[in-house]
Amino acid sequence: MSEIAANENVNIEEIFGSKVFTLGKMKERLPEDVYKEVSGIMQKGGELSKKSADIVAGAMKDWAVENGATHYTHWFHPLTGITAEKHDSFVTHPDNMGRMIMEFSGKELIKGEPDASSFPSGGLRATFEARGYTVWDITSPAFLKEDATGVILCIPTAFCSYTGEALDKKTPLLRSMEAVSEQALRIVKLFGDTNATKVTPSVGPEQEYFLVDRAKYLKRPDMVFAGRTLFGAPAPKGQEMDDHYFGAIRERVGAFMKDLNLELWKLGVTAKTQHNEVAPAQHELAPIYETANIAVDHNQIIMETMKKVAERRGLHCLLNEKPYNCVNGSGKHNNWSLTTDTGVNLLDPGYTPEANVQFLLVLACILKAVDEHADLLRQSAANVGNEHRLGADEAPPAIISVFLGEQLEDVVKQLIETGSADHSIHGGKLVTGVSTLTDIEKDATDRNRTSPFAFTGNKFEFRMVGSSDSIADANTAINTIVAESFCDAADILEKADNFELACHDLIKKYLAEHVRIIFSGDGYSEAWLEEAEKRGLPNIRTMVDAASALTTDKSVALFERFGIYTRVELESREEIVYEIYSKSINIEAKTMIGMARKLYIPAVVKYERTLAETVNNVKAAGADAAAVSKILSEVSALLAQTLDAVENLEKISAEAKAMSFGKAQAVFYRDNVVPAMALLRTPVDKLETLVDKRMWPVPTYEDLMFEV
Ligand code: ADP
Ligand code: MG
Repeated sequence: MSEIAANENVNIEEIFGSKVFTLGKMKERLPEDVYKEVSGIMQKGGELSKKSADIVAGAMKDWAVENGATHYTHWFHPLTGITAEKHDSFVTHPDNMGRMIMEFSGKELIKGEPDASSFPSGGLRATFEARGYTVWDITSPAFLKEDATGVILCIPTAFCSYTGEALDKKTPLLRSMEAVSEQALRIVKLFGDTNATKVTPSVGPEQEYFLVDRAKYLKRPDMVFAGRTLFGAPAPKGQEMDDHYFGAIRERVGAFMKDLNLELWKLGVTAKTQHNEVAPAQHELAPIYETANIAVDHNQIIMETMKKVAERRGLHCLLNEKPYNCVNGSGKHNNWSLTTDTGVNLLDPGYTPEANVQFLLVLACILKAVDEHADLLRQSAANVGNEHRLGADEAPPAIISVFLGEQLEDVVKQLIETGSADHSIHGGKLVTGVSTLTDIEKDATDRNRTSPFAFTGNKFEFRMVGSSDSIADANTAINTIVAESFCDAADILEKADNFELACHDLIKKYLAEHVRIIFSGDGYSEAWLEEAEKRGLPNIRTMVDAASALTTDKSVALFERFGIYTRVELESREEIVYEIYSKSINIEAKTMIGMARKLYIPAVVKYERTLAETVNNVKAAGADAAAVSKILSEVSALLAQTLDAVENLEKISAEAKAMSFGKAQAVFYRDNVVPAMALLRTPVDKLETLVDKRMWPVPTYEDLMFEV
């Protein structure tokens, strides 16, 4: 893979998409009728004929081979949250002259059959019926992945079981995109747009991450096994000076970002914005928004590429939601909007939102959707790492609410109170008071950073998703709940004798019924917790509690109504949450036990011995050993506490491990193992502040965060 010299000039236009089998490349390489068939399916859906599939496969293979590819893979998103791939080479039987002719058929392009038994399926499929199929997602372009294994042609696919159940995160997402498109079309038709044939959800995910020196990372078993520090005393400095956010980017980090951008551009990912984030050694990358399924694929590519490029630079990229205890963790802001193929963003209020009835209806529908299915949204952002973030004064609270901003909130208020809105607040001019600075037009609304679901001008920003998580679940949930709202509204409005009047009444009704979900204050405050409770908004604190949202009668009815998930699929997904949670906490507990027994305790014992020897020597010399004795007693007491806590954790995690997978086990891990882990961390972190730094067995927060 190319190492770029610091001074090498990069021509973005030339390299962009060079590793992607783009529509442009298909146009060049495919016969016109086949190209038309493929691009038509991308636009409107449908199935590729067998003959064309063979031609596309051949062209794709030729392009890949010209670019050094030796293998291809069906690239998919199993329920582990990361992507999976099984490589097959283009090698075929040599002919009778011993020559190898590389081949790739339409059948191989369209369908793959990885052994599905080792992926989580939540009991959907027993191991003896391990058949699972990957099916080409023709709307997401194939690309070349280049690493130590060589160049691999990656074909984005969906992954389903023999009986058609979704075994991945892609299939439900694609189903939800079709559902929201179909229902949104009914809405725009009511407003006279009869030309639109498709409504597409667009997604722009902002990705936060930490960088750490790789050599130091490798010395921390907790980072290696759990992706986060399970021990560690705070450094003298955290993020309190706010000097890292948007700060100048350090050389080593800059080199990483440059390399990362280049790799992403080649892969057709529009890496756009980069900056330092709030915590030391924390950064963010945002691409330009695109169609939801492609954004999901690209977000996976971004995460993978971050890891790979970091390694090349002697760094490690931490995507865990909470790598360090005392500073902010990382999330992913999922920006979401809906656009018709006639070019209208349904979330664009225009200059006079009060007069934009279609927008007001869409807004009212979204508020209804979020209020009615807050538990599902919360669930869609739950993962093990995010447990330490949500509600921790640095990320949105676990309570779902919507921030609309001053302008829209005022319009909503007028509508509820008087049934009509005749004006709206405008931003006006920003007067700087400096004659050489241009006065600029202000936005109508300031930002709110604490809201989980914020309207930001022409899109909603769902801010709960964890940094390591796939954004597929969140977008599946958003698309589906909004599809339902649109469907309910269209069912009523299509039948109305007087559309205008009915629409007006419906907007007012939805707004009045769901106004409780609107909140523009400080989402981190205690007062909000109380207020939310008064409003009856759910506050689902943990991932384990959130999981059952998948299988309530309300959710099953919703997902089955739009063909997104069957009850069986939902039940299996709930099971998987419990399984993943229990397994993850078990790994964390085992890692802590190992570190305590094999690293911390031996180091402290050694330090204790030096102290004891010193006490004896000082006494023998006839001096006062009180000071050293005092340290020795403190260290000894903490060591005893540590040992007790390790034994306790060993006992409790053995109990947990012995239980069978399921909700009860996950609850046990949460309520018993997690607190036992905290009990072990406390004395070890105190010891870290007492023991001779040269004897401490692992890099500390200071070393990890400030020496990148
Ligand atoms: P912020 O100021 O919120 O940090 P960023 O520039 O970091 O903003 O990220 C905003 C993200 O929102 C980008 O990925 C951007 O492409 C995306 N975005 C902008 N407009 C839309 C839209 N209409 N629909 C979906 N995403 C959008
Ligand atoms: Mg940003």
